[in-house]
Parts: sequence; C-alpha cells; structure tokens
Amino acid sequence: MQIAIDGPAGAGKSTIAKKIAQIYGITYLDTGAMYRCVAHCVLKELGDCFSDQAAIIKIAKTVKIEFKQDQVFCNGEDVTLEIRTPLVSQHTSDVAKISEVRNILVKQQQEYAKKNPVIMDGRDIGSVVLPHAEFKFYLDADVTERAYRRHKELVQKNIEKDLEEIKQEIESRDENDKNRLVGPLCQVDEAILIDTTGRGIDEVVALIKSYIDGETI
Ligand code: C5P
Repeated sequence: MQIAIDGPAGAGKSTIAKKIAQIYGITYLDTGAMYRCVAHCVLKELGDCFSDQAAIIKIAKTVKIEFKQDQVFCNGEDVTLEIRTPLVSQHTSDVAKISEVRNILVKQQQEYAKKNPVIMDGRDIGSVVLPHAEFKFYLDADVTERAYRRHKELVQKNIEKDLEEIKQEIESRDENDKNRLVGPLCQVDEAILIDTTGRGIDEVVALIKSYIDGETI
C-alpha cells in the first residue's frame, strides 16, 4: 500500500499521516524531515552559507538520516528538535531547490517504498516520489489558520515567535516550494483535495479513511 500526502506548510500533513499509518499498520515517512536534516547539517558545517551548492550536494550525499519511532537522527545525532527551529525551517527550501539534493533524497524515499507499505508526506510525493501510489491526497488550509497552528506548536516547544512573522514565513516558503524548477509543490490531477480549515484532526482522518476504504465517492 502506498499513500501520498502533499500540501503546503502547516496544512496538518504529518499529524494526519501518522494517524493514518497507525490505522493501516503501515510506516510513516516524513520526507520534510529529510530535507530539514540536510539544512541542519549545512548550518552546522558551513554556517549559513547556502550559496555553495557543491558543498551542500556533498553533505546530502553523505548524510545518514534515520527514523526511530518519533525521533530523527542525523549522522547518529538526535536532531528531532533542532530540525524544527525557525532557522532550519527558513533554510530548508534553499537546499530543497537543488536538483541533485532532490535526486539523492527522492531515490532514498523510493527505495524505502519498494520494501515497505508506506504513507509519505511532502511536496512532490504524488508527482515524483510515488507517482503510482494507490491513494493521493492534497491537504490545504487557510494561511492564517496554518500560521496559528505553527504558532501553537512553537509555544508548546517554548519557542517565542510573532504570529504575523510566522504567517509571512509560511507564505514565503510556500512561494519557494511552488515555484522551484524541480519537484515543486503541486496538486496532481488524481489527488483528492482536502481543505483542513476549521476541521479537527479526527474529522480529517475520518474523511481520508472513508476515501481509502471506498466509502466516499
Ligand atoms: O513538511 P515540512 O514543513 O517539514 O518541509 C520542510 C521543507 O522541506 C519544505 O518547505 C520544502 O522546502 C521541503 N520539502 C520538499 N519536498 C518534500 C518535503 C519537504 O521540498 N517532499
């Protein structure tokens, strides 16, 4: 079983994907975390020098990314919290626009999907990573609500950030993700659009489940 979930930042993709994975006993692969790991390593090794593409590609080729339950490891280091900081979020689209970086990570994601039934969330899952997935969903939500959700997440992690600033960052990240030349964020024709604005997690999970189980036409 392969399920693809795409959509802009803060649309609820990862929360929903984790729950769907549990329901169907399949693995959840957070592809955004992989791009975040590369950005984290670049910040660590090169400072914020995101113009050196050759060095970034070298990092993407050698970085070892592992998932263990809810934790993410990068070259053996637990980076679960570090990769969610606003600084890493802001720079992830800089590494994600480099075609060689995408080729390296997409190959790893596809290798994983060959061996495991999987639900993946990202930006290019339905279009590039799993073009033959049985189920494709595109989750979206009003940008103000997405910013509010991110703000709430950051508050829970004791990270202070102005709501309006978060909204602007989300808009700029979405712009970058939609307009890059390789693997841009897009809703493929066959993907089911789900607007999560004003909807709770359980409601969205139930809706997706009804599509998978063939109860909704
Ligand atoms: O989903 P998440 O917010 O963690 O993704 C962080 C960033 O990683 C996105 O803004 C995007 O630039 C990049 N990304 C991507 N392709 C994916 C997943 C994430 O380009 N499949």
